[in-house]
Amino acid sequence: IAKSAYPNAPDTDYADSALREKAKQALVKVRASLGNTYQPLINGEWVQSSQLVDCFNPSNSQQLVGKVGYATVEQAQQALAAAKTAFPTWRNTPVRQRAGVLRKAAEIMEQRRFELGAWICLEVGKILPQADAEISEAIDFCRYYADEMERLDQGYNYDLAGETNRYTYQPRGIAVVISPWNFPFAIAVGMTVAALVTGNCTLLKPAEQSSIIAAKIAEILLEAGIPPGVFSYLPADGPTVGAHLVEHKDVHLIAFTGSQAVGCYIYAEAAKLKPGQKHLKRVIAEMGGKNAIIVDESADLDQAVAGVVASAFGYSGQKCSACSRVVVLESVYESFMHRLIEATKSLNVGKAEDPSTTVGPVVDQEARDRILEYIEKGKQEATLAFQSPTPTGGYFIPPTIFSDVSPDATIAQEEIFGPVLAVIKAANFNQALEIANGTNYALTGGLYSRTPSHIEQARRDFEVGNLYINRNITGAIVARQPFGGFKLSGVGSKAGGPDYLLQFLEPRSITENI
Ligand code: GLU
Repeated sequence: IAKSAYPNAPDTDYADSALREKAKQALVKVRASLGNTYQPLINGEWVQSSQLVDCFNPSNSQQLVGKVGYATVEQAQQALAAAKTAFPTWRNTPVRQRAGVLRKAAEIMEQRRFELGAWICLEVGKILPQADAEISEAIDFCRYYADEMERLDQGYNYDLAGETNRYTYQPRGIAVVISPWNFPFAIAVGMTVAALVTGNCTLLKPAEQSSIIAAKIAEILLEAGIPPGVFSYLPADGPTVGAHLVEHKDVHLIAFTGSQAVGCYIYAEAAKLKPGQKHLKRVIAEMGGKNAIIVDESADLDQAVAGVVASAFGYSGQKCSACSRVVVLESVYESFMHRLIEATKSLNVGKAEDPSTTVGPVVDQEARDRILEYIEKGKQEATLAFQSPTPTGGYFIPPTIFSDVSPDATIAQEEIFGPVLAVIKAANFNQALEIANGTNYALTGGLYSRTPSHIEQARRDFEVGNLYINRNITGAIVARQPFGGFKLSGVGSKAGGPDYLLQFLEPRSITENI
């Protein structure tokens, strides 16, 4: 087995008061620049869009974070045309130089770490230590994909006497990246730099809710030396401009992270051959999850409770890796429930920017309304075992626990993407695994157990892309836990892993008779 000892970027140590102070200062500084306008970047220029959309802080829905100029369909077409023009040169730019842009970008991110964390906190309501982890992840993506592309660039040599056989990779062409708001920096950076370093010209269409953070990515790439046309930043309305890009004949590849509904739409739409299109599009889709943690009879319950709480309620459950089901063996059910509720009571729900907050708001009004509907549904289907108090002023949803949930209840089957946890009882370990596997998704899963045969069984039969044993199930690290799922969770690609870049490339074999 090949081993990786990748030197990941360390997160800020928030126990260090000097570093905490720096983070606080950055927040003060960023607050002073709220309300600015951000415009699309096309062909190396910040262009003007007259369609300005206000963006508010989810922790304080009156506070304007900034205004975003949404690109029009015409502007998206200009970005595509610029990408087409820039492609031949970018494709032939030595990999070392393309990788150099990523490494420079990583350096800038490290320098701007606290400021970027503050923007994440204010635009999407993520607490600072978790926003900081995103900066580390983005840096890792830049450095790891730079190294990975240099590895792939060596190709393979299958020479024989009298014949050279070389296997190499070339870029696909034009990539559209559609990024999510829940990891507005890390995932947007990861998909974008993967597309760029492999030699594709790339258009970034961020989720509407996180367009300002994506503008910071554009600033960083510009400063790192990305040539005009090679990269465009297109904040825009998904259903019109995003759809136009997905459907366009000149696009070769779409890298998407987001909901299952949008992922399935992209997959279907990309399969349609348009007039004049001379290739089939490649889709990389990372979608949702309905992730379960199994708590076995032999589990260390203190460890299990801490892991479940962190996995279910971290960033208000708005991670596709989040735990939304706990499957607990009957014999430990009562004591687990009791401890789970006690631990959840100790969470501090509040504004993401307050240092004492452990659970911030959800991203916007629409998310809040959708989650509240699920909570109402849950009350009909199961027992509401606990709900934290709800603060006011922002889009807050209190951590909510339902007990005695049936494995096929709506709240145990559909992705809620909020701090809502369904606890399900299982009679034995086989049944627990069956329940855990009984959804359309296969993203993350967890097991707390000290029974070696159960751990073995889970390794084999727990159908998830990322399985975590005796730890929390969120927070995958680049080159350590390559991340991604299968079934309806995605197409099986693993971000931050050794196969990821291959999807952005086309392999070629060249034989010369000598
Ligand atoms: N990679 C993240 C994690 O392991 C989740 C990414 C997502 O929510 O899309 O927690």
